[in-house]
Amino acid sequence: MEAKSLSIHLTDCCNSSCIFCVVNSHKNSTECVDKKVIEKFLRDNRKLGYEAVNIHGGEPTVCKELPLLLDKIKEYGYKFVSLQTNARLMSDIEYAKTLIGKGIKKYVISLHGDTDGLHDSITLSPDSFKQTVQGIKNLKKLKDVNTKLMTNTVACKQNYKSLTKIARKAIDIGIEHINLSAVHTKNRALYNFNSVVPRYTVIKPYIIEMVEYVVANNVPISLEGFPYCALPGCEDYIVKRDLCKIKLLFHSILMTDYRDYMDQEQKKQHEKCQKCVYADICGGVYEEYQDRFGWDEFSPIVRC
Ligand code: SF4
Repeated sequence: MEAKSLSIHLTDCCNSSCIFCVVNSHKNSTECVDKKVIEKFLRDNRKLGYEAVNIHGGEPTVCKELPLLLDKIKEYGYKFVSLQTNARLMSDIEYAKTLIGKGIKKYVISLHGDTDGLHDSITLSPDSFKQTVQGIKNLKKLKDVNTKLMTNTVACKQNYKSLTKIARKAIDIGIEHINLSAVHTKNRALYNFNSVVPRYTVIKPYIIEMVEYVVANNVPISLEGFPYCALPGCEDYIVKRDLCKIKLLFHSILMTDYRDYMDQEQKKQHEKCQKCVYADICGGVYEEYQDRFGWDEFSPIVRC
């Protein structure tokens, strides 16, 4: 049976200001999606067989209501909860304890550099690296074996030469799964396109080096948002487009199938993709990337 997951965009607010932020997050208010709208979304979809919830933003931990929302999710009987976060507020051990008691099974933590200088220059937030690393350490200390810590690194012009070092840092502090994402070329990433978005051909050797390092350390790795033909040899680690049916609550807008939204609005295949063996599971290439760089980098993979 197909996995069905809910996705809740809790807020546009964030305590960081990443240079490639796909939602144009801001620091100016503490608005969150209306509690009643979220509760109805959770109640209605539990009856329809949804069993997992992913919470993201912005930065969900800046919402004071997050602990109460997690209680509600538990009350409705959802079996799996994941949280996308920069973990900065978890550097406060008391806040980390509060969240650990709420049943989150996976933390997906943004880590974009291996040093203060690199990470903070991407988040545009002094001390964010120190806080994120301390947050990870606190969660590691408090969590049980069923709770997984994963990092997400966005491969951009600023950090692609440091990808292996970032993975090493993550593994050293106890991360159990590493995800690398392509820049999603919307909002601030689009505004900063020339300064943040690297060509896939340029970053390919650095990604391969990172994958080899992580695999050699027996840590799972996934690559998200990349077309298969951009990373030959890494196909086994690329996230397939149809892993899960996702229903998304974005502000008060409901998207019943996030995959369709991505196919129609965000990423596109080329007509030459029809010949490719990965056509059914490849999401294609972000539209704005195609507009700027064209299709010369991408060729269908054909089995003889
Ligand atoms: S040729 Fe098209 S379908 Fe095949 S991997 Fe590349 S982008 Fe994906």
